[in-house]
Amino acid sequence: MLTAVVIGGGFYGCSIALYLAQQRGFAVTLLETAPQIMQRASLVNQARVHNGYHYPRSLTTAARSRANYPLFVAAYAESVVRDFTKLYALARIGSKINAKQMESLCRSIDAPLVRAPREIEALFAPNTVSDVYIVEEYAFNSAILARKIEAELLAAGIDIRLATEALAVEQGPGGVRVEAQRGLEHYVFDADLAFNCTYCNLGQFASKSTEMAQVLRHELTEISLIEPPDELKAFGITVMDGPFFSCMPFPTAGLHSLTHVRYTPHATWDEDRNLAPDRILHGDGHQTRVDWMLRDAQRFLPALGRSRYVRSLYEVKTVLKINDGNDGRPIMLARSPPYGKMFSVLGGKIDNIYDIIERLNSEDLAA
Ligand SMILES: Cc1cc2nc3c(=O)[nH]c(=O)nc-3n(C[C@H](O)[C@H](O)[C@H](O)COP(=O)(O)OP(=O)(O)OC[C@H]3O[C@@H](n4cnc5c(N)ncnc54)[C@H](O)[C@@H]3O)c2cc1C
Repeated sequence: MLTAVVIGGGFYGCSIALYLAQQRGFAVTLLETAPQIMQRASLVNQARVHNGYHYPRSLTTAARSRANYPLFVAAYAESVVRDFTKLYALARIGSKINAKQMESLCRSIDAPLVRAPREIEALFAPNTVSDVYIVEEYAFNSAILARKIEAELLAAGIDIRLATEALAVEQGPGGVRVEAQRGLEHYVFDADLAFNCTYCNLGQFASKSTEMAQVLRHELTEISLIEPPDELKAFGITVMDGPFFSCMPFPTAGLHSLTHVRYTPHATWDEDRNLAPDRILHGDGHQTRVDWMLRDAQRFLPALGRSRYVRSLYEVKTVLKINDGNDGRPIMLARSPPYGKMFSVLGGKIDNIYDIIERLNSEDLAA
């Protein structure tokens, strides 16, 4: 029986572990530094199940989101939150797209786009917002998603090692050797394949650092959690397409997230061995920028000014440098030297898991 070690128990590591066990017959060990699965980017995000609308400047990402959306919604139905209306609004000044372009994008990916009725449009300031649309786009509850996945991992017989940190990946007798630590205990796992699913920490293993430096960019991000005023509670709202904001239900906390393209990233840097993402994340206390977010966002949506700020979550967001200009979120699945036995995986967004699986289906994992 072939064996695999999956490093990272986020949505990607867990999903890949399940795929390897259930569809490719592997015996799988899953290593996760935290005491529970899915506590990092898979929890701290905007909780949007993308349906294509957010990517008007990257037709490929928009089309892939549109294709993957129904798959995710069906597979994880219990974690999908539908009890709100999703609005996309276009900024009158400074938007990189206009109504014509938005409507043309939606036609080309076959995504329904309906103009919001006057009473909804009236929530927005007419001098800053030109068009408001209602779309179908849901949110996900990460805690429910994690519970479902954990049950599936156990049912699939996956050896889950929590509070266990992979320290090094090297060439091993039959493929790869992963050294790991749990408290004072040191472990060695020999396997045919390893999967590095550590998202912002993809460059942490010595053999990966140079390769990842060429492709990855990180942002220290703040997701502020707020309680919006009653008239906004039933909505998820994104103002596009430029330095604007999103206010989305954040089901795991029963609140809304408020993020702003200009203020959510506190720092941006290219992958560099000397700038470990986790050190920056857990470094000096971060000063919330929620006041700036709210001040700017209420120019578009005045009622937001009456929100109650609750707290902020911070996480490092990792993207591919090549998507700087168009905001696209393709996958990265790199099977790379020196071992050829380790895959590095970057999903970009939750629904991209289906693109990863499709790519893995075409890989000869026994080679
Ligand atoms: C601010 C922000 C907003 C986002 N909004 C959305 C959104 O609305 N919709 C969407 O689809 N996507 C969104 N994303 C992207 C999405 O969150 C990620 O694509 C997805 O969560 C990545 O999952 P993952 O499993 O790769 O990473 P993670 O969930 O971060 O999992 C990586 C795991 O690896 C573990 N790990 C790291 N190093 C080691 C080690 N040495 N040994 C063992 N374990 C290790 C970590 O503890 C962690 O649990 C957002 C991301 C951010 C940061």
